[in-house]
Amino acid sequence: MKHKTVQIHKLYKIENDKIIRLRKLCPKCGSFLGEHKNRRYCGKCHYLEFKTQ
Ligand SMILES: [Zn+2]
Repeated sequence: MKHKTVQIHKLYKIENDKIIRLRKLCPKCGSFLGEHKNRRYCGKCHYLEFKTQ
Protein backbone atom coordinates (compact mmCIF):
# COMPACT_ATOMS: atom_id res chain seq x y z
CA MET A 1 0.00 0.00 0.00
CA LYS A 2 1.33 3.38 -1.00
CA HIS A 3 1.53 6.05 1.61
CA LYS A 4 -0.38 9.22 1.01
CA THR A 5 1.42 12.42 0.19
CA VAL A 6 -0.14 15.66 1.23
CA GLN A 7 -0.61 17.94 -1.74
CA ILE A 8 0.87 20.90 0.04
CA HIS A 9 2.63 22.01 -3.14
CA LYS A 10 -0.73 23.05 -4.47
CA LEU A 11 -1.31 25.34 -1.56
CA TYR A 12 2.14 26.88 -1.30
CA LYS A 13 4.70 28.14 -3.72
CA ILE A 14 8.29 28.95 -2.85
CA GLU A 15 9.70 31.94 -4.64
CA ASN A 16 12.96 33.69 -3.71
CA ASP A 17 13.04 31.78 -0.40
CA LYS A 18 9.62 33.10 0.45
CA ILE A 19 6.59 30.95 0.95
CA ILE A 20 3.69 32.32 -1.01
CA ARG A 21 0.23 31.13 -0.24
CA LEU A 22 -1.63 30.40 -3.44
CA ARG A 23 -4.94 30.21 -1.73
CA LYS A 24 -6.60 32.55 0.68
CA LEU A 25 -7.23 31.57 4.24
CA CYS A 26 -10.56 31.80 5.92
CA PRO A 27 -10.68 34.89 8.17
CA LYS A 28 -12.94 33.05 10.58
CA CYS A 29 -11.25 29.70 11.14
CA GLY A 30 -7.93 29.86 9.20
CA SER A 31 -8.65 26.99 6.80
CA PHE A 32 -7.92 27.22 3.12
CA LEU A 33 -10.79 28.61 1.13
CA GLY A 34 -12.12 26.71 -1.84
CA GLU A 35 -11.63 28.62 -5.07
CA HIS A 36 -14.63 29.02 -7.28
CA LYS A 37 -15.32 31.10 -10.33
CA ASN A 38 -16.76 34.10 -8.56
CA ARG A 39 -16.50 33.21 -4.90
CA ARG A 40 -14.42 31.56 -2.22
CA TYR A 41 -15.92 29.12 0.19
CA CYS A 42 -14.78 27.60 3.46
CA GLY A 43 -15.93 24.02 3.82
CA LYS A 44 -15.19 24.05 7.51
CA CYS A 45 -17.21 26.97 8.84
CA HIS A 46 -19.18 27.77 5.64
CA TYR A 47 -17.75 31.23 5.29
CA LEU A 48 -18.54 32.64 1.86
CA GLU A 49 -16.69 35.46 0.15
CA PHE A 50 -17.52 36.94 -3.21
CA LYS A 51 -14.74 37.99 -5.53
CA THR A 52 -14.80 41.59 -6.61
CA GLN A 53 -13.61 42.40 -10.06
ZN1 LIG B 1 -13.69 28.92 7.81
